[in-house]
Amino acid sequence: MTLFDTRTWTKLEPPKPRVEVTIDGIPVSVPEDATILDACSEAEVEVPTMCFGPNLTPRNACRACVVEVEGQRVLAPSCSRQVSEGMAVSTDSERVRTSRKLVFELLGSSVDLGLAGMDDWVARYGADTARFGEPVASVSDGTHPGHHSPPSTDAAASVAQDPIIDNDLYVRDLGKCILCYKCVDACGVDAQNSFAISVAGRGFDSRISTEFAIDLGSSACVFCGNCIGVCPTGALMGTVEFDMRADDTWDDGAQTVTRTVCSFCGVGCNLDLHVQDDRVVKVTSPADHSVADGHLCIKGRFGWEHIQ
Ligand code: SF4
Ligand code: SF4
Repeated sequence: MTLFDTRTWTKLEPPKPRVEVTIDGIPVSVPEDATILDACSEAEVEVPTMCFGPNLTPRNACRACVVEVEGQRVLAPSCSRQVSEGMAVSTDSERVRTSRKLVFELLGSSVDLGLAGMDDWVARYGADTARFGEPVASVSDGTHPGHHSPPSTDAAASVAQDPIIDNDLYVRDLGKCILCYKCVDACGVDAQNSFAISVAGRGFDSRISTEFAIDLGSSACVFCGNCIGVCPTGALMGTVEFDMRADDTWDDGAQTVTRTVCSFCGVGCNLDLHVQDDRVVKVTSPADHSVADGHLCIKGRFGWEHIQ
């Protein structure tokens, strides 16, 4: 007999078999299909993540979350590696610390991580983001949006470039992009299925781009902003926030967040209204809400100016 949750009319699944693992010596019991990251969370052990999103398929792109699994030759990305019975995981071994330190040094040498929220981890591992030389200054001439700077022998190659402002709703500041693919997946099969953006180029010249680098308004973009919602570094940002940060008026500490339900249609997406000085300055959506998994459409994400 199939059982249903009578509040949501979703099917109730039978409980999954559980496995026992240890995280830094702490025993935890988790469902057999849990990831190591889930088990770390259960053990209340913090792990840095950048390309991981709870509402996205893991990509294993950033390598910030690697851990050491007893008996395994190479470090494992905890965001995607499934647990197995008896697994013993170290999140703070010397190998793990060395690997994460290098990841932050490489990323920090070429990308502006100022809004990535990684400062504490960078400090914890003693990562020297100037180890490979100071990043070169912006060289974008506007002819190749998203293009990286050329290599230099006396400075670290960098993705520094001018922000792309080609519409009223959001800005692409790709000097902050770590190429984590989250926006590509949110625009693609994980949420929006618009496929307006993808990775163009090869190697260090890879960058997030529309087809032939055309303006967003001319591309398949429907301005849902789901790419902004998942971007971990502030490379994609609503125009209001971008302008306020440029004016130095953006103040996280002065903002309140109020949860409500979008009233544009009957789907019932949850909205978090970020309010500063009695004005809505941003709308996000909780990733753990069953209706839309944190993804929205253009109306929920950007259709709030009429409120004020
Ligand atoms: S706003 Fe939506 S459709 Fe446009 S690029 Fe971002 S995810 Fe894709
Ligand atoms: S723009 Fe943001 S979400 Fe997209 S790849 Fe770059 S850092 Fe990741």
